[in-house]
Amino acid sequence: MTTHYDAIVAGAGPAGSTAARHLARAGVRVLMLDRAQFPREKPCGGGVTFRADAENDLDLSPVTEREIYGVRVSADMSRMFDRNSPTLLARMTQRSRLDAYLAEQAACAGADFRDGSPIGQITLDDRGVLVRASGDVFEARVLIGADGVNGPTATALGLKPAGEHAVAFEANYPLDGALAARWERMIALDLGGIPGGYGWVFPKGDHLNIGVGGWKAVGPTLRDRLVRYTRYLGLDAARLEGHRGYQLPLRRDGEPVVRGNAMLAGDAAALVDPLSGEGIWAAFVSGRLAAAEAQRFLAGDVHDLSGYQRGLDAVMAEEILASRRLMIILQRLPAFSVLMLKYNDRFWRYLQQIIRGDLTYPDLPKKLGPLRHLLYRWADWEIARHERMLGDDPRTSPSLSPRQAG
Ligand SMILES: Cc1cc2nc3c(=O)[nH]c(=O)nc-3n(C[C@H](O)[C@H](O)[C@H](O)COP(=O)(O)OP(=O)(O)OC[C@H]3O[C@@H](n4cnc5c(N)ncnc54)[C@H](O)[C@@H]3O)c2cc1C
Repeated sequence: MTTHYDAIVAGAGPAGSTAARHLARAGVRVLMLDRAQFPREKPCGGGVTFRADAENDLDLSPVTEREIYGVRVSADMSRMFDRNSPTLLARMTQRSRLDAYLAEQAACAGADFRDGSPIGQITLDDRGVLVRASGDVFEARVLIGADGVNGPTATALGLKPAGEHAVAFEANYPLDGALAARWERMIALDLGGIPGGYGWVFPKGDHLNIGVGGWKAVGPTLRDRLVRYTRYLGLDAARLEGHRGYQLPLRRDGEPVVRGNAMLAGDAAALVDPLSGEGIWAAFVSGRLAAAEAQRFLAGDVHDLSGYQRGLDAVMAEEILASRRLMIILQRLPAFSVLMLKYNDRFWRYLQQIIRGDLTYPDLPKKLGPLRHLLYRWADWEIARHERMLGDDPRTSPSLSPRQAG
């Protein structure tokens, strides 16, 4: 028997639950399916930046384990220093708690949430979408694919939004009293040591989340890097537990995220921030935008979902491009970047404003004046070089559009 809905959301991570919550609140009959039984773990630092928190219309205090007001920076495991902020930078949560809470909020708003329901088959036709999950068949006019980096929706739609995947590896370290006090309000970042990434410490209620990540090529070295970073922090690497690794999809500029009556959101649309690896903000934003476009479509205000692609690009395209450029600059000038962070109060203030969402990445180079044109050109040249190394032909790559030279 086929069950009918107005909309189906594939995946109940931050993107899916946000989309389902907004749709349900608007009175749309929405089904949200997830293959996992909730609460479930998701490899993630669980850092919710202030900008992500502010984008969300929910109070995340019930699942916040720490509030962060500063960063302990090191440069390739040396010269550690602290930078403090007068205002809140991020909330630390655990994804098992955050995602269960978000899914619960979607269900409270009226979404039909079925966990433990892996989607097997997705078929699009003129009338909408047909989804098979755990022997059940569901039909709807709209599908939002928010099923993460390896979910089936993008493949079923024939979409490939990621130009490449970064990788990250993390583990938990138990917190005792003295250690907990040291990490009360601080995270740590180790910059300049890992190609395409960094090391981090994100404190939680009863453990530290310690991780390392970077470009795919560094994947085989990450386990060893995690051990070395843990030792550098003065901790016993043998006490690390729950090791896990995962991919972070990085979007290729201009790649479509809409096909027929279906849209991709969050990691399924490869919206991870190339500089920081942050994906929860983009998951919240894209989930909200996809829900708004679905409502317009269901109400007959628009005849297709192309407005989602335009809306998403308006918010994300420049943001991701500028983040990518900054990441390359940081990669190529690690010592300079760390010195700027340490001694240049204005630079540190700008970074705080980005984390809080008061500035965007494209705003930051503007603060450098005309010098930014030179930096842009150099960053674009380095990005092209990186893409060539990936075996990608930059002459045909849409991520090297002419506006990158601007
Ligand atoms: C190690 C690591 C650390 C990170 N740390 C941070 C951080 O601190 N802060 C931050 O902002 N971002 C972080 N990120 C990125 C962040 O985790 C992701 O960007 C974010 O989870 C994306 O949310 P999403 O809802 O798009 O996808 P997901 O959270 O991946 O949710 C997708 C959901 O789809 C479900 N699904 C998959 N396949 C199917 C199927 N066949 N049928 C039904 N359901 C399915 C999954 O079970 C899952 O629940 C990190 C990533 C990694 C790998």
